[in-house]
Amino acid sequence: MTLVDTHCHLDVEAFDADRAEVLAEARAAGVASIVVPGIDADGWDKLLGLCASDAGLYPALGLHPLYLHRHREGDLAALEQQLAETQVVAIGEIGLDFHAKDPDHDRQLALCRAQLAIAQGAQRPVLLHVRKAHEEMLRLLAETPVVGGTAHAFNGSLQQAQRYIDLGFCIGFGGMLTFERSRRLRHLAAELPLEAIVLETDAPDLTVASHQYQRNSPAYLPEVLQALAAVRDTEPAQIAEQTTANACRLLGLQASSS
Ligand code: ZN
Repeated sequence: MTLVDTHCHLDVEAFDADRAEVLAEARAAGVASIVVPGIDADGWDKLLGLCASDAGLYPALGLHPLYLHRHREGDLAALEQQLAETQVVAIGEIGLDFHAKDPDHDRQLALCRAQLAIAQGAQRPVLLHVRKAHEEMLRLLAETPVVGGTAHAFNGSLQQAQRYIDLGFCIGFGGMLTFERSRRLRHLAAELPLEAIVLETDAPDLTVASHQYQRNSPAYLPEVLQALAAVRDTEPAQIAEQTTANACRLLGLQASSS
């Protein structure tokens, strides 16, 4: 069984002490490929260095909507420069977070719009972080269509999910699905076409039920797979095969059969 973690912050400080062990555990659990999304320009070099060190790690670069205070003039130009020079599979993590404390809607919208335009120009998919702003995001995508991407840690409605799918997106499901109390999310995961679903952990955040209150890890991705298989009443192997194919198609990853 080969899995792809389509959203894992393996580059962050929380993994500095034991990153190699975490990666080895993930591999042992069947997670062959991991997409590592960027948060701010200061973190890109470390992220790119990490991904260059291992063929199964794929970099995405972007400016995260929750870290507006860290983004500077010139970061967007630097992003375009990086895209021209490096093998980046997607623009991300970008988006809109209106659930944040004192969100600056206008700055978030402007930053997201600019990065969608970069993704459109470079013909790259995007990794979207969206909270309490799906209508606004769908409007931005209508203005500036991109080749597709993932709606990461999706928490919208079935109807909104279908609109993302119509725009070439896959819906990302992670640890939240492993909690029995996530009824609405589980219902959504059962209803969507399997061709439009990808797996993710968002490690070190949003952990799975078996490791509640602990650091999340890409090694726990099989638990998300099992939860998805259970709600869909489908064999885990079939879910693994299809979601891995989806991730490879969407992000242009090398299909690995290890
Ligand atoms: Zn993230």
